[in-house]
Amino acid sequence: MATKGLPDDASWEAAEGTAFHDMLATCLQHGFDPWQFAAGDYALEVDGWKIAIDEDMAAHAENLIRGVREYEDSPDWTTYHEMPVDISPWAGPGQKGTADYVAVNVRARRVVVLDWKYGRGLPVIAQDPEYGVNLQLLGYALGAWQTSVYRLMADSQPGSRERLPDATFTLGIEQPRIEIGGGRVEMHVSELVALGAKVAKRLDYSHKDEAPRVAGETQCQFCLAVGKCRENADWVISAFDEDDRGVEGLAEIDGALLEFGAEYLTPEQRGHALRLKPFVEKWFKRVHADAHADAIQGRQVPGMKLIEGRAGKRDWVDGPGPVRQLTTVLPDPLDAWERRLVTPAKAEKLIGKQEFANRLAGYVKQADRKPALVSESHPAPAIVSATEEFDDLTDTSDLL
Ligand code: SF4
Repeated sequence: MATKGLPDDASWEAAEGTAFHDMLATCLQHGFDPWQFAAGDYALEVDGWKIAIDEDMAAHAENLIRGVREYEDSPDWTTYHEMPVDISPWAGPGQKGTADYVAVNVRARRVVVLDWKYGRGLPVIAQDPEYGVNLQLLGYALGAWQTSVYRLMADSQPGSRERLPDATFTLGIEQPRIEIGGGRVEMHVSELVALGAKVAKRLDYSHKDEAPRVAGETQCQFCLAVGKCRENADWVISAFDEDDRGVEGLAEIDGALLEFGAEYLTPEQRGHALRLKPFVEKWFKRVHADAHADAIQGRQVPGMKLIEGRAGKRDWVDGPGPVRQLTTVLPDPLDAWERRLVTPAKAEKLIGKQEFANRLAGYVKQADRKPALVSESHPAPAIVSATEEFDDLTDTSDLL
């Protein structure tokens, strides 16, 4: 298996995501308000990184909490936060995961499984063009079902220990920092279980040594082997391989990928290259991390060398010394501190939504939505471009 023995990067982004999830779960479990964390300059230590809970994080957390309020506040729903789930029947022995949010309404036979993604790199969509639903989300739903939801549903429906209890799932991804990410999929439990069996069969085969590796958007998205897998690299490079200006053409430019300007690409190559952009970036990141680690350990990286990097950001030392000294040195000691106008999100929090809408909404500016170019498989409807609208206007055939 390509990922065997590969480390999972404890990157800053991953640590930031973990801090966000931890803060959110704490708020939901104990009724805290995310703004309390932001106001208190609270920071979480995750994998050696110190992650501050800032206003942005608090505002996103608040929105997500608002989105699940109907489940949290209703006695009909049982909710679980950061639920450990067993996905071994589908993904293989020992495979476990954590479902961010699960809500179950036994009487209405409904289950909601939500995956919260705080990253802003790759958009993650709930719908999958091949399987109908994002595979990670499917895993969490199956795991939640297997771990405890099945029992709740079976015990409340006569005879359902022998057959599949009735239930309808809403599977959702919330990706607050990427406008084009997220989405919802509805699925009856019978479809969920059938899909699980299909995926389990494919996964089982893919774990066999003789299984061919087939690179693609779905399977490579979170694979740890990106950057070390030949098939993935070939697939990424194939973006430029659709006519005689192929990979060879790229090599002739001596690796100067950036000089291979967009004007030399066909529209198909450009579209393909853009869809692959997140993978190319991830691939370079991993290759760079490996080469950097080699250089640190004294192994040569041909054509490259280690130098002293830029000095880090300056900050005051801990303790009362900096304040004491600065207020002594400054002509006006009050200049030692800055006061800033709070953000609209914070102001809304301070005075409440209604008051904000009544008295401050007119003072808020927000940039217009900009058209975003996404993969054809994205579930959002395509917008009509200005040229197409113009074409429609010039088409007078229906007037004749
Ligand atoms: S082809 Fe993609 S999913 Fe398969 S091992 Fe390579 S990177 Fe991972």
